[in-house]
Amino acid sequence: QETIEQVDPELWLAIKGEVQRQEDHIELIASENYASPAVLQAQGTVLTNKYAEGYPGKRYYGGCKHVDVVEQLAIDRLKALFKAEYVNVQPHSGSQANAAVYLSALQPGDTLLGMSLAHGGHLTHGASVNMSGKIFNSIAYGLNPDTEEIDYDAVERLAHEHRPRMIVAGASSYARIIDWKRFRTIADQVNAYLFVDMAHYAGLIAAGFYPNPVGIADFVTSTTHKTLRGPRGGVIIAKPEFEKALNSAVFPQTQGGPLMHVIAAKAVAFKEAASQSFRNYQEQVIENARVMAKVLHQRGLRIVSGHTDCHMFLVDLCPKNLTGKVAEAALETAHITVNKNAIPNDPQKPFVTSGIRIGTPAITTRGFRELEAEKLANLVADVLDAPEDEQVLAKVAQQAQELCTKFPVYEK
Ligand code: PLP
Repeated sequence: QETIEQVDPELWLAIKGEVQRQEDHIELIASENYASPAVLQAQGTVLTNKYAEGYPGKRYYGGCKHVDVVEQLAIDRLKALFKAEYVNVQPHSGSQANAAVYLSALQPGDTLLGMSLAHGGHLTHGASVNMSGKIFNSIAYGLNPDTEEIDYDAVERLAHEHRPRMIVAGASSYARIIDWKRFRTIADQVNAYLFVDMAHYAGLIAAGFYPNPVGIADFVTSTTHKTLRGPRGGVIIAKPEFEKALNSAVFPQTQGGPLMHVIAAKAVAFKEAASQSFRNYQEQVIENARVMAKVLHQRGLRIVSGHTDCHMFLVDLCPKNLTGKVAEAALETAHITVNKNAIPNDPQKPFVTSGIRIGTPAITTRGFRELEAEKLANLVADVLDAPEDEQVLAKVAQQAQELCTKFPVYEK
């Protein structure tokens, strides 16, 4: 049998380069993680060959005996993980899961109240450049300027003013506990659906370290590749009365054949997420984030909203007179990967920004604990103190490399 290297050496080189980059760089992008070898193996199986339109037991193709078992395992495990009554494991991504929720419950032109992209919401929560902002009458809520926490009073005011058909809760760069129950109360006051996108927090929720929105919201979606540490993909969880509408919103309304190899990998990840070692991992993720935020604060940076309750936080670079763009590039040179990120009421353009987002899921997977998190935060601060000093960047890169060598991702 021919290997990728033999069939396509040009492509193999790029893959090998990425393997090396993941080993040699410290990953602080909050939405990324390292899937386990078992998850990777499941994705690389012959299940990719199989068409299975429909759902277990009700397929439009023959030969689905084994993939039915695969999908049912994923379904049952996801239900157990989040105490859910109905789930759909077929969405190809988080965005597809969100599109299916909208399609199942809303009509074009309906009013949607979601968190502003500029304050930490996701594109799919009604941003003007996204389908959700084009098809629906999208209204945005944001943060209280004093506390930088979600302004629930403003959400309530906006809900009464605009009478949305659906309220979206959940975020891509919000470090604090989101009060799902407060959102439920507001949604009930105006007779709106409550939809929670828990993509960022799902792993913490599965492990019991962040409140579970399942049972509170009408609809919950997640990606499977962030804190949940599975393959790249999406899932939907909902109250049982929405089963029929959601199943058809996924297939046939927005997707064709499910990616059975990815669903197999999701099943593996859900099994892993039910383990004690996953709970220990998530506890360490939060501890590492707290340590990093504390050290960066001590080193003169400002943490948006003061501290973190989860796996991530935003760093305001204004005290150092730096932009997110410059910080991201300097850190990259020093073998530390972050993403620039707008801070609330950011004076800079979205492509420049005044902040960076830091997340600890990936470093924790490779084995970093408090000691390494503290060391790493100091390295980040060293770079932010002297982003143009090549000697500093080289010295930090060397120390980052030492940490990477000590804590390999896959080459254990
Ligand atoms: N929802 C939230 C809150 C996210 O942060 C993201 C991705 O970053 C998504 C949805 C979209 O996921 P995907 O990239 O799989 O479409």
